[in-house]
Amino acid sequence: MSCTFELEHYAEILEAAKAGGYRFAPFAESPERGDLFLRHDVDLSLEAALSMAQLEAEHEARATYFLMTESVFYNLASSEGVAAVARLGEFGHWVGLHAVHPHAELDDRFEPVIAWHNPSAEYMSERIPGVVNVYSEPWFAPATYRSDSNQHWRAGCPHEELRAGGFPWLQLLVHPEIWVYPGSTMGATMLSMLDRERERRLVQLVDDGIDLA
Ligand SMILES: [Zn+2]
Ligand SMILES: [Zn+2]
Repeated sequence: MSCTFELEHYAEILEAAKAGGYRFAPFAESPERGDLFLRHDVDLSLEAALSMAQLEAEHEARATYFLMTESVFYNLASSEGVAAVARLGEFGHWVGLHAVHPHAELDDRFEPVIAWHNPSAEYMSERIPGVVNVYSEPWFAPATYRSDSNQHWRAGCPHEELRAGGFPWLQLLVHPEIWVYPGSTMGATMLSMLDRERERRLVQLVDDGIDLA
């Protein structure tokens, strides 16, 4: 098995987790043995989030999608954003807020759970009254956390340990854009995302009545 950042391998990671006996848990619950908190910080693309969400549904996996209300890359209040939130719910996933500090205002689109975007150390792990901060205890501990940040597993791809049941429980942060768009480096992946984005924008321009002739 080669640990490429492609949906094919992501599906293998999901199947490894199931083989290892893990259950897909919501952040509303404190970690217990066998819990897998599948976390997606959606930084750049709702389209990528929905592709990943559908694949997970096909593999009977459930994840928490952390969506931004202050993204420069997408608009959660647009028709596209509203549809994305609804679709994630239909797939059986949970939606949390990918918040820009200090704004942690939750509304009825979100479960009471937040993940800070690009947090700094001073507030990263601070408890927030009435809300789960995924970087606070008991949901966060370095030994039970893996992240694919910038298309690199700092502590290795987790598929083998998942299959062997090696983690007591795990918070697994996966960024959909990295897996949905092709590219063997983060830079290449971002360029293919932008190519796809260009196509998408051209369609949107036509839909908006712009004459591209
Ligand atoms: Zn792997
Ligand atoms: Zn982020």
